[in-house]
Amino acid sequence: MNRGLIFSLAILLTLAGCIGRSNHRPSPQRRPPNQTVVVRGNDPVVLKQCLGKLDRLVARYALLPDRTFGGSCDALGAVQLRDIGTPTTNLGAMTCGLANAFVNWVQNDLQDPAQEYFRSRVVKIETMGTYSCRNINGAATGRLSEHAHANAVDVSGFVLEDGRHVTVANDWTAGGDGAAFLRAVHASACRRFVTILSPDYNALHHDHLHFDMGGKSFCR
Ligand SMILES: [Zn+2]
Repeated sequence: MNRGLIFSLAILLTLAGCIGRSNHRPSPQRRPPNQTVVVRGNDPVVLKQCLGKLDRLVARYALLPDRTFGGSCDALGAVQLRDIGTPTTNLGAMTCGLANAFVNWVQNDLQDPAQEYFRSRVVKIETMGTYSCRNINGAATGRLSEHAHANAVDVSGFVLEDGRHVTVANDWTAGGDGAAFLRAVHASACRRFVTILSPDYNALHHDHLHFDMGGKSFCR
C-alpha cells in the first residue's frame, strides 16, 4: 500500500460531521441500499462520474481547482453551483457528491411539501454556507467538521412564492404548517445525504439543518 493511499484512507477514517458522534446516539435511520455516496477526494474517475451526474441535473456550475488550506482543510473535487433552478444563498465550494445530493433534494423534494402545506412554491432557499475551516462544534480542538472539506451545507430557511418566510429558527418548534413542511424536507434529506442534523439533534443546530456526505449514515 503506498503512502498516498494510506493517507487517503486515514482521511476517510477521520471524516466527521459538524458535531461529534457520541456512543449514546439513537439508532440512525438507514439509507436505501441503492443510494450513491460519492467519496470525497480527487480520484479523477470518481470525479468524472460525479460531474456526469451533475451535468444531467442541468445544474449550471463551475468545477473548482483542488485547493488545500492550513490546518488540513481542503476543497477537493469541488464545484461552485451557479444555477440549480431555485435561487439559493451562500453556496460556496461543495464537493461534487454533496452538490449532487443537494441539487437532487432541491429539484425533487421541496415543491410537493410546499404545495401540500402552503399551496405555494419555494422560490428561494437560504443557507448559512458550505466550506468553513473549523472543527466539529467550532471547538478549539478536536476533529475537523465536514465543512472544513467543503462537504457540508447548512440550510436555514425558505421563501415561498406567496411571500411566506419559513425558517428553521422560528418554525421547527412552532408547530403548524411551517413545522410540518420543515420536517418533510428534513425527512427527504435523510434519503439523500449521509449525516443530517436538525434542531432535534442539539441546540447548536437550532437555526439550521446540517447536511453532509461524510462519515456514517445518521439522521436526526
Ligand atoms: Zn453544518
